[in-house]
Amino acid sequence: MVTAIGGPRILLRQLRETMAEPLASQERLDKIVDLIADNMRADVCSFYVLRDDGALELFATHGLKRDAVHLTTLRLGEGLVGLIAAEAEPLSLQNAPEHPAFAYRPETGEDPFFSFLGVPVLRAGQTLGVLVVQNQDRRIYGEDETEALLTTATILAEMISTADFDALITPGSDIDLRRPRMFEGVGFSEGIALGQVVLHDPRVVVTNFVADDTDAEKERLNEALKKMRVSIDDMLNSGDMQIPSDHREILESYRMFAHDRGWARRLEEAIDSGLTAEAAVERVQNDTRARMLRQTDPYLRDRLHDLDDLANRLLRILTGDGGDSGRDLPDNAILVARNMGPAELLEYDRTKLRGVVLEEGAATAHVAIVARSVGLVAVGQADSIVSVCENGDDIIVDGFSGQVHVRPSPDLEATYADKVRLSAKRRAHYAALRDKPAITTDGEPITLLHNSGLLADMDALKETGADGIGLFRTELQFMIASKMPRIKDQVELYTEAIRRTEGKPIVFRLLDIGGDKVVPYMRSMAEENPAMGWRSLRLALDRPGLLRTQVRALLQAANGGPLNMLVPMVTETVEFLKVKRVIEREAARMGKLGMLAPNPLKIGAMIEVPSVLFELDELLPETDFVSIGSNDLIQFLTAADRANPRVARNYDPIARPRLRALKQIVDAAARHNKPITMCGELAGRPLEALALLAIGMTRLSMGASSIGPIKEMILGLDLNALRADMEAFLTHGDRATTVREILMEIAERQRLSL
Ligand code: PEP
Ligand code: MG
Repeated sequence: MVTAIGGPRILLRQLRETMAEPLASQERLDKIVDLIADNMRADVCSFYVLRDDGALELFATHGLKRDAVHLTTLRLGEGLVGLIAAEAEPLSLQNAPEHPAFAYRPETGEDPFFSFLGVPVLRAGQTLGVLVVQNQDRRIYGEDETEALLTTATILAEMISTADFDALITPGSDIDLRRPRMFEGVGFSEGIALGQVVLHDPRVVVTNFVADDTDAEKERLNEALKKMRVSIDDMLNSGDMQIPSDHREILESYRMFAHDRGWARRLEEAIDSGLTAEAAVERVQNDTRARMLRQTDPYLRDRLHDLDDLANRLLRILTGDGGDSGRDLPDNAILVARNMGPAELLEYDRTKLRGVVLEEGAATAHVAIVARSVGLVAVGQADSIVSVCENGDDIIVDGFSGQVHVRPSPDLEATYADKVRLSAKRRAHYAALRDKPAITTDGEPITLLHNSGLLADMDALKETGADGIGLFRTELQFMIASKMPRIKDQVELYTEAIRRTEGKPIVFRLLDIGGDKVVPYMRSMAEENPAMGWRSLRLALDRPGLLRTQVRALLQAANGGPLNMLVPMVTETVEFLKVKRVIEREAARMGKLGMLAPNPLKIGAMIEVPSVLFELDELLPETDFVSIGSNDLIQFLTAADRANPRVARNYDPIARPRLRALKQIVDAAARHNKPITMCGELAGRPLEALALLAIGMTRLSMGASSIGPIKEMILGLDLNALRADMEAFLTHGDRATTVREILMEIAERQRLSL
């Protein structure tokens, strides 16, 4: 084995000096390949850059014919260089021409070189190019030489990403890093947004690559590792974490990696090769990301994600970069994240946000609901999008099709600008329906209501002309506050909400926190299954003070006028009665305090836990109205987590068994003469809304943007014909036909706009 002459550290120092010299880009590159060849005693050193057309262009060489620079190209996967780029793995060969992938390029004059060592040039796991050294003799490159070349590649990756090479690349092409990318996700919230990427969890940018003092860097690394381990241990030992949970599992795997000797050793080796501690983390992280992008096994992928997160933590400690707090957003910000909770989304300045793109998530997850509620375009399940985005990249989010375009071409941007104009037209068309009552062609009036939760989304009521607010999710206020809202704050919010409905009805749902609706200042125990855990009504009954305060605030806000309160997650009648008693007691107390009790005061129950379906005849007489929460009801009926994209879409919510369950509730409400509303996401989708109308529902509550399309559908609908067709289908229809199919047939027959 031959060892490099000057060693990697000397090379890095020389590279740093070269970077600082006032040279033209090509000259600088030529000098860099000369230095690498010299330092590694290689006959050849060549550097290829991946272009946006998938070709690897020779950018500089020492030892091959210079004429071939910017002329020779290899496709991804073609030749040894193409292979390294495609697999993002180093390749070391004693006899390169014998390798089956070897592709001979006569113009380069590379025939006499036998031994070959090539490494990918990676950034954030993306391959940007390939760096190669070759020798005439059949030499075996040692592991430390591979390391040295990988280290050098880290610096070249930085050069590629700072627009240094723009002028060098063959005219008409661009480097791959800035290639437009398209992702096929799932639309969570309709609309089209054009804007700039803001990474929710921004990568720490390493600027200082070359170490002056290796020992000092190792010391820094070890200090940072120690700090990180302590902080993970602290989190694991905190009271909340004593119970098994997803969060605990993540931390456990963090801890495992944080103590992983192999990882620490790789980091130290990278420092040994002359990098600073943070550059070493970045280098090792690059390999992890490259593996992550190739990994299809979901479990291993998650673990690699964990390791990536951990490396980011370590980088933050090393660079003192606290992350995103107080970041300035551009005016057209589009958040890009692996995933986030609804509270995290609400922490951003909403006046500047246009959209949100997630790698994970599901349409009925609360973050998606919040996005819809505040009018953000949202797309989820855009696999691996975070690693190809940089802050400030142009991005288009199409919430209708679920497509996301990163760094779109000007043509595509123009097309989308057209679509935006078109959707503005559609909005104008729906706005024109504003004052038209939603009455079917056979004269049945349908009540259309908004789902809401923040004052910011209430002004939409004026635009849509809807009949009121069918669901005001009061927990959103709790989620955006930094501390528990006091009674005074709550009274103010509810009073203002009532004022903004301008005499139309509004239904306040009592606190539905817990599950994924995390309230940051309320310490709760981590749970294995938060959706089925200590949430909503259960939490409210265990914390009577919290419930009482909210009830008092609502009673006061009504100021003697009408008040509708909706109790979430009712699992059995007794539970509902307990809350009803609290409310009635508080209402009775008002008179004694010289305040006016609401008139009328109506208390409703949400039907979203399957258990109450078997007690409807006991529950309904106790209620003034009921409201179906299809998001939770379908989740619990199908045992499929509404927030888990792998299962949430597997079950059609209007398939026979679910539709039958919904019909049972509708029929029970009719028997007991109680108003019934659908307030889950189903009501806002035209075909699903049609199913609801078909089984007898006439009150639908939905996100504001759905009112127009649903109203348009209703205006063309012959409801009696629909009901007759559906009745016939449900009693003796063909079992092989789905409800969805039959509804599409009916919609076509009735020429409905869906
Ligand atoms: C539901 O479960 O359908 C519902 C309306 O409540 P949330 O989505 O807030 O859980
Ligand atoms: Mg619910």
